[in-house]
Amino acid sequence: MEECKLNDYECLIQWNSVPDLLNLPKVPPSEIKRLIIYDFDNTLYASPKPNEQLSSPELIELLLNSRDKLKSGNWWSTLETLEYSFDRCSALCENPTSEISPYIFWNKLLLKSAQLAHKDPTTVSIILTGRKHDTFHKLFERLQYASFLKDDTTNAFIFNAVCLKKNCNMNTFDYKEKVITSLVESLNIKNNLNEITIYEDRKHHVRQFQAFLTKLSLKASHTVSSASWHGTVVPVAAKNFLLHYEDEIAIIEKMFDNHNKICIEQNLNDLPIFKLKWSGIKSGFFHGVHFTEEFIELDNKLFEKIKKYHPTQILNKYPMYIPITVPGNVLSGRICAQIISNGDPKIIDDKTFCRNSINNMKFPKDSKRNNLLNFIFKITAISLNFESVGKIPSIVYKVIPVGESKGKFIGKKLEDLYLVGKTKAKDDELKEYWFCKTLATEPNLIKQSMNWIDVKDGPIIRTTFGSYSQLDYIKTPGYNFQSENSNVQ
Ligand SMILES: [Mg+2]
Repeated sequence: MEECKLNDYECLIQWNSVPDLLNLPKVPPSEIKRLIIYDFDNTLYASPKPNEQLSSPELIELLLNSRDKLKSGNWWSTLETLEYSFDRCSALCENPTSEISPYIFWNKLLLKSAQLAHKDPTTVSIILTGRKHDTFHKLFERLQYASFLKDDTTNAFIFNAVCLKKNCNMNTFDYKEKVITSLVESLNIKNNLNEITIYEDRKHHVRQFQAFLTKLSLKASHTVSSASWHGTVVPVAAKNFLLHYEDEIAIIEKMFDNHNKICIEQNLNDLPIFKLKWSGIKSGFFHGVHFTEEFIELDNKLFEKIKKYHPTQILNKYPMYIPITVPGNVLSGRICAQIISNGDPKIIDDKTFCRNSINNMKFPKDSKRNNLLNFIFKITAISLNFESVGKIPSIVYKVIPVGESKGKFIGKKLEDLYLVGKTKAKDDELKEYWFCKTLATEPNLIKQSMNWIDVKDGPIIRTTFGSYSQLDYIKTPGYNFQSENSNVQ
């Protein structure tokens, strides 16, 4: 075996972002046969994503995709989102007696594959991510403390390098292509490299990498036998983990503060100033955030009858709920207490119980839900109004309580129980408000003005009784803010 010199792997040294995690192969590059690339976010690590139960779709869109709208950076380029998650993972690593394993933050199967790859001296495996080096390299140093990221026998880190995006404004895919091309060129000295595997969660990156590997394979076919060349992209189901509500709100607030500060300091008057706000309170029985599967099942049944609608039109955004009051109106402690106690007449005068009932039902929060707040319903009919230009919501479900919820005090007449929510259609928020208001004042109008289609054996809907408000944002034009500022001076 030839002796390996440090500068043989200049390329790995150059792209690596965390010196303490650099783990140069023991054999020279001419003996390297395999290159494995692991994407980090949501592929290897369950990175946090904005919580759909907490924030409005518009706020999530701003946080995730609007790179240019937030001058301080979006969700993925903000240090704190990943830092909070690393804090929680580290706390679990340091407390081995905890019921929760730190593996919940990692893709265990991929870690196993990386451990096996590490045992093979002719394999180079790296973590390659679009996270910016300048912002994140210090944070990634913390990975060296996680014992399960080390080899059982040598205590070495199981990846050869951790490569973050260095000094460039390239998009993530182009950057990754550049790094992989450069690694292939420097490792494939004697046409020895005959296998590249890329693990990736994002569908469009999977497709782009497939095209990229096909190009590489065509080049390789000039030099090695094409039968011995393998280029594979392995699509990985995205894994993520939600932050605590309080942490997430604090992070978003800080992102907005930083953006606003930059706009003011740099006189960026064409950019808006962002502020967080809570939407009007809604009260009723809320369907969980993971309702999609149940509704797809319903869609399949419906499709036999209504072929013209696509399932994505019918799927609602969170929250879907059975309203028992008009949005913006706060439920009285008495009503809350009656629903929770199943109409027990004695508790109406019990002020402590009423007060606790209100506190118990406030969303969102992390505490475990009380069983008394759980209610089960079944869909019995559906009304679709996608073509209507009036005030009727695009989609409404008629429901009845079933199972242990049958006969319980619900706070509304059985014939006035409807499941509503926003779809992708325009103005659904306003229509939902009209629906709840009309239901409270003229329930017969609801019955008369909608076309109901009966649903046989409709899905069961598991709900939680509560009050809910969603985090949203408002924007003020930058010049307004600037002129207010000038007036003060
Ligand atoms: Mg990813």
